[in-house]
Amino acid sequence: MERLQKILANAGIASRRKCEELIAAGHVTVNDKVVTELGAKADPNVDVIAVKGRPIKRENKLYILFNKPKGVITTMTDPKGRSTVHDYLKKDIKERVYPVGRLDYDTEGLLLLTNDGDLAHMLTHPKHHVPKTYHATVERVPHGNDLEKLKRGIKLEDGMTAPAEAEYHDVDPDGKYATISLTIREGRNRQVRRMFEAIHHPVIRLKRISFAGLTLGGLQRGKHRKLTPAEVQKLR
Ligand code: URA
Repeated sequence: MERLQKILANAGIASRRKCEELIAAGHVTVNDKVVTELGAKADPNVDVIAVKGRPIKRENKLYILFNKPKGVITTMTDPKGRSTVHDYLKKDIKERVYPVGRLDYDTEGLLLLTNDGDLAHMLTHPKHHVPKTYHATVERVPHGNDLEKLKRGIKLEDGMTAPAEAEYHDVDPDGKYATISLTIREGRNRQVRRMFEAIHHPVIRLKRISFAGLTLGGLQRGKHRKLTPAEVQKLR
């Protein structure tokens, strides 16, 4: 027996949070009975579970690595008509997949998408401290002291950041910019940009190059590929 919201999320209906909303709103039935209780459990192999009258089917698990370009929004739809991740995937991926965490509109790089609700939940839960590495190109060249501050923790308006790794990746000989490799294990809103603002080196360009041990490799900007079974195994 599993919680209903987990079964729905695993079936690719929506995120676990959205599935809870569907349950609470009375859209979910188990063996033709409306269930609105969030703790309710069911057996996905025995019970007939339906959302708005349509029985769910157990979906194949899908894991997609996407190299998000700048100027693309990390949602499947956008009411303002901006370019979305879905626009890039829809030709090849017919199943519903959801981004694991998010990247800002102006951030590029590695984004994982999946319909595996359990894995997505695990990878985004703060207690698992999943590492994410960014290449942040910033105005002027930060001093070694500044990198030490990033490593120790920076005071932001929502509290101190946890210890991070920071090192020079590339330094402009004229001193106009530097690219810093920063690894964080939290996922606060606009965290990397805010950390660099706090040390007075605003970010000009931000690219995520690694997430939970996955790397982009040679994946071109705007392209996507399925994870290999070995990569999926490593994430668990
Ligand atoms: N930190 C940011 O500031 N932006 C992102 O997109 C990701 C991490």
